[in-house]
Amino acid sequence: MKTMDILCSAWRKQQKLNEINGILTKHRREVQKYQDQIVEVRQKIHQSHKIVAEKELQEAELMKSLATIEKSRNRTKKLMDEGQVFDFFTAQSQVKAYEEKMALLEEQALLLMEEQDAEHTRIALLADQLAFVTKRYGEESALLVEKETELEPVFEKFENGLLQQMTSMPPEFEKHFQRNRSTHRMLVAELNGKNCGSCGLALPAMAISEVVRLSRPYFCLSCKAIVVAP
Ligand SMILES: [Zn+2]
Repeated sequence: MKTMDILCSAWRKQQKLNEINGILTKHRREVQKYQDQIVEVRQKIHQSHKIVAEKELQEAELMKSLATIEKSRNRTKKLMDEGQVFDFFTAQSQVKAYEEKMALLEEQALLLMEEQDAEHTRIALLADQLAFVTKRYGEESALLVEKETELEPVFEKFENGLLQQMTSMPPEFEKHFQRNRSTHRMLVAELNGKNCGSCGLALPAMAISEVVRLSRPYFCLSCKAIVVAP
């Protein structure tokens, strides 16, 4: 096999390998995306539960204050009923003040309960979302494993074929190939008229004649591709 045939064939194999890696990388990202979403939704649920707990605590404290004020009001009212107050009008306005305060606290308690309800609704929605994302994550993970199992032997076949071909490359090409194989750049380019088929750089006349007449591969100075005769 001629050096350039080996190079072209090796490059084709490398492209296949890059393609397989690309497919798997894309799929792994997809799985990772669902995993990240699961973490995110769980954090949101946790946050909502914390908010509910805080509001419950606030509500409990409010109810305690309400009970205390109610007691004071009842006591004052009882004294009034029993005719035990010195100043009836002051006592009456005090009762009114107590009742106003109670109405305010009741309003605040109601608001807190509404806020808790809203948070519970949010938690239910998040739970649905979590179930959906978890399901998708499971499906995508299974698909990834399937794809990996399916592509592994193909990958190995190309990899082994490539390694074998690399041993039959002249050492300077092998080194060059090793250095560049992980990049997705065109490594072997055909001569395009008088230019490099990859980057379009005009090649020196000497190089062209070497490529065409002597079938000697040429390293493009610009893109580092190995330029071979078409
Ligand atoms: Zn080039």
